[in-house]
Amino acid sequence: MPSDLIATAAKSTPASWQKQLSQAQISAQDLLEQLSMPLELLEGAELGAAQFPIRVPQSFIDRIEPGNPQDPLFLQIWPFSAEGETPPLGFVTDPLEENAANPVPGIVHKYQGRVLLIVNGSCAIHCRYCFRRHFPYEDNNLSLSEWEQALTYIENNPSINEVIMSGGDPLSSNDKRLFKLIDAIEAIPHVTRLRIHSRLPITLPNRITPDLCQRLGSSRLNIVMVVHANHGNEISQDVHSAMTRLRSENIHLLNQTVLLKGINDTTQALIDLSEQLFAAGVMPYYLHLLDPVIGAHHYHVATDVALSLMDQLQAQLPGFLVPKLVREVPGEASKTLIYTQKPPK
Ligand SMILES: *Cc1c(COP(=O)(O)O)cnc(C)c1O
Ligand code: SF4
Repeated sequence: MPSDLIATAAKSTPASWQKQLSQAQISAQDLLEQLSMPLELLEGAELGAAQFPIRVPQSFIDRIEPGNPQDPLFLQIWPFSAEGETPPLGFVTDPLEENAANPVPGIVHKYQGRVLLIVNGSCAIHCRYCFRRHFPYEDNNLSLSEWEQALTYIENNPSINEVIMSGGDPLSSNDKRLFKLIDAIEAIPHVTRLRIHSRLPITLPNRITPDLCQRLGSSRLNIVMVVHANHGNEISQDVHSAMTRLRSENIHLLNQTVLLKGINDTTQALIDLSEQLFAAGVMPYYLHLLDPVIGAHHYHVATDVALSLMDQLQAQLPGFLVPKLVREVPGEASKTLIYTQKPPK
């Protein structure tokens, strides 16, 4: 990309995030060239890229170290040839069986008191380890009548006090659509909390515009934003500023991470991530074991390795900076906590 374009994208004009979003799809070759990576990497990349196209916003590319194929951010977005290998036993296309818990289109109701509302398909970034890589919900935007059905479902279930906007990525919706939905959720009296699960504050921090902050800040709902960062290098100055804007509107900020081989499977990487998140005003929430999705087995970290990492974190960080290690088991009433059972003294 010519440097004048980068300069335009970096400015915090309201439309700039949408421009970056629309330019996020990039060919394997262009990405390698832009990052001065070895072109040999192209070999074996086509298969993965055809299945789940490469998408990465410029602002995320800018945080990758040029010429370093082991860069922890690059490793999250590059379709390595391993994606095409025969997966180990247990790796499937729909590991969470999400399709089974859809009472109406757009709603996933698995846990007591809260529902996922699937707002928008498109993600700004395609994380190669994503459990939705075989169902990129891109073409799955709800029609108006489906929206009404989803909202009616919430209205008719007084046990639901928290709506979780999820996706895809709900913040890739434009403000008009997003604000309309927030209006509709606010109109349901038994809903007290709105949670937004989004990776955009990390991958495209310009999305956190003054308009968005103002709308969220003026809501009667208690708002929680759960972002998704896996490595300290993702917390750039721009991300820091975006978090500051959200916090000044009293929005609670949490982070979830996926434990990924070669990316954040060391004590130091996880400590650094927690410290950087906290410095930006974000509390670590979950550390997820990888969902066993076909095409992502090369990111798998064994459970005993994960547990010993947790022991190290517990020993070296204040308790509030230690995320909870969890796995998602289809059919369970919550995420499943994983911990070492220490024998009583
Ligand atoms: C993860 C998840 C939630 C949120 O769970 P918390 O433990 O409250 O963060 C809610 N619904 C579904 C379907 C989920 O997968
Ligand atoms: S942002 Fe989330 S939903 Fe989108 S590709 Fe990454 S992990 Fe998957």
